[in-house]
Parts: sequence; C-alpha cells; structure tokens
Amino acid sequence: MTTTTAAPTTTTKAYVIDKAGAEPTLQTITLAALGPDEVEIDMQYCGLCHTDCHMRNNDWGISTYPMVAGHEGTGVVSKVGTRVAELKVGDAVGIGWIRNSCKQCDACLVGKDNLCGAYYQGTYLGEGAGGWGRGGCQLQGCFAKVMHVDARFAYKLPAGIALDAGAPLLCAGVTVWEPIVNFVKPGTRLGVVSLGGLGHMAVKLGSAVGAEVTVLSSSANKAKQSAEMGAHHFVQYTRQGELEACAAKFDVIIDTCPAKLDLDAILGCLKFGGTYVRVGIPHKEAQTVSTGLIPLIFTGKKIAGSIVSGSANTNAMLRLAASHNIACDVKVVPFTELTSTMDALSKGEAGGHFRYVMKWD
Ligand SMILES: [Zn+2]
Ligand SMILES: [Zn+2]
Repeated sequence: MTTTTAAPTTTTKAYVIDKAGAEPTLQTITLAALGPDEVEIDMQYCGLCHTDCHMRNNDWGISTYPMVAGHEGTGVVSKVGTRVAELKVGDAVGIGWIRNSCKQCDACLVGKDNLCGAYYQGTYLGEGAGGWGRGGCQLQGCFAKVMHVDARFAYKLPAGIALDAGAPLLCAGVTVWEPIVNFVKPGTRLGVVSLGGLGHMAVKLGSAVGAEVTVLSSSANKAKQSAEMGAHHFVQYTRQGELEACAAKFDVIIDTCPAKLDLDAILGCLKFGGTYVRVGIPHKEAQTVSTGLIPLIFTGKKIAGSIVSGSANTNAMLRLAASHNIACDVKVVPFTELTSTMDALSKGEAGGHFRYVMKWD
C-alpha cells in the first residue's frame, strides 16, 4: 500500500479586495503548493499602477473577486521549485503583469510572452478576464506578502536596481520599453504624451537609447522635471498653436495620456511613415478611436498599441536600467495606507512624485 501526502500549501497575509470598489483589507490567504517551476518570494515592495485602481473598481468589466491586486512587486526568493535552475534563495526579483504563458508558441519561444498565442496568464487575472485569466489567480497579485510565481516571470534584478525605486520598472517601465524597442533608434525624434508614471519612464528610457525626446504635457510645470529626466524639448500642447507648431515633427509618439486626445491632431505631429503607439488601457469609453484612412494611405503613418513586455525585453530593460542608473521617481508609503493611496491615485494625486510604492513593514 502506498500513501500520498498532499504537497504543503502556504498561508500568507495579503490585502484583499472583496468586491468591486471595496477597500483592500488585510486577510490571510492560502497559496497552492509551490510548483516545480516556481519560486516562493518574500515580497518587500509593490508599485501602484492605475490598472490596480481600474481592476479594484471593475472599470473594464474583467475583474473577479475576491482579488489580491498589485503587479509591480519586488522581493527576495525564499524557496525554489525542484526544476528551477536560474534563480536561487536570496536573489532579488521583480514580478510584473504576467505570471505565466504557454512557453511553446512562436511568441513565447522568442521571449515575447506578452503576445502569447495561447494567452498569457495575468498575474492576478481570474476567470472574468477570459483567455488571460484562470480561476484562483485573482488572489495571486503582489499585494501579498508571499507569492508563488513561475521562475521565468520572476525577473532577477541586476545589481544596482533598488527594490523600492525599481519596482515600477516591472509595469510602467516595460510598458513604455516595448514600443521603444520596436520603433525607436538613436536619433529618433520621440514624442511622449503626458508626464506621469508611464511617461517619465518613457523619457528616461527613450533618452538612454539615444532618442531626441519631446514631452507633450497639458501642464507647464512639468517642463523643468522633463528636462531633469533627460527630455530635450517640452511642449504644453493645451496652449494655442503649440501642437500645430509640431506638425510633421516626430518619428514616433508614445501616448501615455489617461484622457482621450484628438487623434487627428496627434497624428498631424508625426512625420511621414511615423508611428503613433497607445500604451496603458484607457477607460472603457475611450477605447475606440476614429480617423480617416486617406491621410494614413498618403503618409504611411501607422497606429499601434502595445501591452507590457515579454520576458526577453523585460530582462533587457532591467539590464539597461541598471547600466544607466535609471530608476523611477517614487514615493514610498506603508501598506497600511493602501486604501488612501489607491484613492489618491484614482483622483490623479501623485503626491509630488511619479509612482507610489507600497512597502511591507
Ligand atoms: Zn500596470
Ligand atoms: Zn505562448
């Protein structure tokens, strides 16, 4: 007779959102046993992304509750699964928007797991998210003290990346890095719309790869910060005539603006053959755009979208950030203030910085 013993589960504390719009409250959750390809991580920090606020409120209709959100986490590996070779106990790692993928499709085989043909598994997307979510995963975000994540998606942080200021690289960083990898070269005239969590990373990473960076912002008081981060030019696009003065100026525009802009006016700022890239998921009512095909046909301009980065580009971005000493401009707040901090972010209050980062005590 043989007896089998169930693999041990792990309990941990986590901030749980019980229903749409509810305050996250500290509860005890149970994680499934550590899989052979997974690592257990003692989480230290988690950046706050607008997506977490949208998911808390079910703004996109894809949330599943109860939910443990958070997808800009950093921590230290505390256990490794039996098949994990690339990470060891004590390694500092970061967790982003993706916790797993099929690892077999054409996209996954080249590390573009963000475009997995069988849908990647979102870090805390449950069944409500369709192909990107699986039942139970909604409780596995980075607002937990302990996480179990596939080792491919637990990114080893190179020396020089701090666990607090480096945390937002895992979403804000990779979200703008992907279009930079795809469309920006040294000398590219890059326009970055809106200087917030995503935009400030686009300025830093874009200038690091040699682009000539222009920030387009609605507020004049972002001019000084833009220059300090490495931007070469600043345009306050809400001022009369400023956008018109940018006609046919940019090779690439990365639009990080939460508000819906006049697409035709923005496309007018692109040079022939230029590319407009939308990053960050807008509100439901701002998710469709319209423009004429004739101007596109006669100018070769392109409209694109982009979702985070796959594992290959994420690792490349982390190496670049370490070698160029790039970090996010963050305000560190204890996890006990998660509700008020999420509320502030929802209202667009950034606290004088570009990303809130929650800290476990
Ligand atoms: Zn995000
Ligand atoms: Zn795949």
